[in-house]
Amino acid sequence: MNNLEIDIEKENEKENEKEKEMKIEEVHTTKPDQRISSHSHLKGLGLDNNGEAILTESGFVGQTKAREAAGIVVELIKSKKMAGRGVLLAGAPGTGKTAIALAISHELGPKVPFCLMVGSEVYSSEVKKTEVLMENFRRSIGVRFKEVREVYEGEVTEITAEETENLYGGYGKQISQVVVGLQTARDSKQLRLGPGIFENIQKQKISVGDVIHIEVATGAVKRIGRSEKFIQDGQLEYDEFVPIPKGEVHKKKEIVQHLTLHDLDLANARPSGGKDIVSIVGDLLKPKKTEISEKLRIEVNKLVNKYIDQGVAELVPGVLFIDEVHMLDVECFAFLNRALESEFSPIVILATNRGVSKVRGTDALSPHGIPLDLLDRLLIIRTLSYTLSEISRIVLIRANVEGIKLDKESLAFLCKKAQATSLRFAILLLTPANIIASINGRDTVIVQDFQECGVLFYDAKSSAKLLSEQKDKFLD
Ligand code: ATP
Repeated sequence: MNNLEIDIEKENEKENEKEKEMKIEEVHTTKPDQRISSHSHLKGLGLDNNGEAILTESGFVGQTKAREAAGIVVELIKSKKMAGRGVLLAGAPGTGKTAIALAISHELGPKVPFCLMVGSEVYSSEVKKTEVLMENFRRSIGVRFKEVREVYEGEVTEITAEETENLYGGYGKQISQVVVGLQTARDSKQLRLGPGIFENIQKQKISVGDVIHIEVATGAVKRIGRSEKFIQDGQLEYDEFVPIPKGEVHKKKEIVQHLTLHDLDLANARPSGGKDIVSIVGDLLKPKKTEISEKLRIEVNKLVNKYIDQGVAELVPGVLFIDEVHMLDVECFAFLNRALESEFSPIVILATNRGVSKVRGTDALSPHGIPLDLLDRLLIIRTLSYTLSEISRIVLIRANVEGIKLDKESLAFLCKKAQATSLRFAILLLTPANIIASINGRDTVIVQDFQECGVLFYDAKSSAKLLSEQKDKFLD
């Protein structure tokens, strides 16, 4: 037995032990049809209380220095000390750069926005490169609104419906107004509900005579919801909003809404008809094309700043992760440099697997293909290549997540394949090999299954080799 096999044997034993413990968890959490993404085994950075990386923890194996450095970045972000700076994850393909970025997002929690994009995304034929970047910047900046809602009780006295054009161009009856009588100790009022509020009523299938509770937003968000006026008149009267009737207030509650600047841009870019924030979020799901102008973004920024000053909103800078950042060109890098300086900037995490290479759009060589002035603003975290034993542990974790059994020899075979090609490619082969095994009536993958996969599927390197060998057979 060579060293690798001994290592793998030990790992197998450990994994078997772990598997016994893990099964209990699986019963509760894993649905048979649950989608497994390539990083779904990662649950965080796997650091102890002193910020030191535990060798195998939270789905992470090895890469300890990079994980510890990422832990410090998390602390810097949490203590709001990352402004104007970014992080660059640099390392060979498949060394866990995306994995670390996702683990940072896990550590920051679900309320901190995390937006992932790939450098090449900016080259869309329809949208300007910097526009794509700007949109993703704004998707990565959260705004936390505190909003007071008042709840009234009243009887529905009238429901008016109109023939209206619907989203898909057809016509149908839609409720246009609902009148609710509010009875207070002193008098009675008629509350005419506008769009946004009656949508909820529509969903609940309420009819005349019913006694209902109506929730009315009185805070900042309500006013943002009336933004169609801004589009029509070219300016938004922020202080003009629907007055709240003096009905009986049954209860007041504070609601916290988590939105991003991009949500607010979108909500303001389409006519939203005086809706409250819940309806605005609902609208975002509808397939409508919108134009977001620079002018509109400036107005949204002003508005958000105003609410921050009033203490009803708080900015939550999230993370913008740009994978394959070397695909950006010099114009995009200039944009990034400027954007990092702006008051509304997320934490920018970049990743590249390039060494010294040309900055796109120039003839200048630079480390990682990134201009030096931008590099100067970045904390660089290196990810290192994995040892065979680390690869074996990662493959076992993946196999476990995907519910795939490997025998000792096939694990060793796949680990060597990962070293010769890439870890990602080896992980990719797990499921096809498992399918081949089950076609052959086995529940355990053996070496022959991976060999058969090797005949059917090419990795990037062998495909490139084939292209150069058979150059004359392909179109240029
Ligand atoms: P590229 O440069 O090609 O974009 P990358 O460095 O971003 O590669 P990842 O996509 O993060 O690499 O890693 C490839 C696969 O290996 C993913 O499924 C990832 O979750 C897993 N992986 C990488 N490193 C680790 C690790 N240390 N522990 C557990 N899983 C890992």
